Amino acid sequence: MEVKFKEERDKLVRHLKKIGYIKSERVEDAMLNVQRHLFVPFDEIKYAYEDRPLPIGAGQTISAPHMVAIMTEYLKLKKGDKVLEIGAGSGYQAAIISRIVGEGGKVISIERIEGLADFARENLKRAGIKDVEVMRGDGSLGFEPEAPYDKICVTCAAPDIPEPLVGQLRVGGRMVIPVGRHAQELYLLDKGEDQIVKRKVGGVIFVPLIGRYGF
Ligand code: SAH
Repeated sequence: MEVKFKEERDKLVRHLKKIGYIKSERVEDAMLNVQRHLFVPFDEIKYAYEDRPLPIGAGQTISAPHMVAIMTEYLKLKKGDKVLEIGAGSGYQAAIISRIVGEGGKVISIERIEGLADFARENLKRAGIKDVEVMRGDGSLGFEPEAPYDKICVTCAAPDIPEPLVGQLRVGGRMVIPVGRHAQELYLLDKGEDQIVKRKVGGVIFVPLIGRYGF
């Protein structure tokens, strides 16, 4: 079984590289090494290496692998980065980030739904990933005690960019966030000394961010 999964995973990664979604070695390494089948419900395991989102319960989904590759490339992660994720879901995206930032780094992931926060923690444990802290709460408020963050990765779509998240981003840091009330676009937000630069990089489809600065 593990051998079959490894072959399927290698094939998926080769495909994502070929079509240009995986660009860097660190994202390639992370996607080759984090086992996506450990992050999906039992009934979905057979689809774990197809390039599409899968249901994880409570009406939520684990993002398609190409979307994880795109988001992770845009984050421009470095070893040692402290990263805040909004929307832990299955824990897969957090696992990918953790693999790249390494032991000196840290990932804090906030999940609104208790059952999914537990699901993410269990999956991360099974996958042997230790440097991710999953917390239940409204991620649109960020998590002030650990701020500032080098990077912020939002995996649910917000009506507007939540102000607290901009505040908790380090100067020189980057946030990747889907924004939109109907059609959604992926935004990159770069926080400089005295200006904030926002760039739209393409249309996306994510579940809604529900919370104080959400829907
Ligand atoms: N990154 C996840 C994707 C999960 S889908 C993965 O790799 O599997 C997005 C998640 O965002 C859902 O689990 C949803 O419950 C959560 N979410 C929505 N609004 C939220 C909020 N305000 N705070 C935290 N999580 C939220």
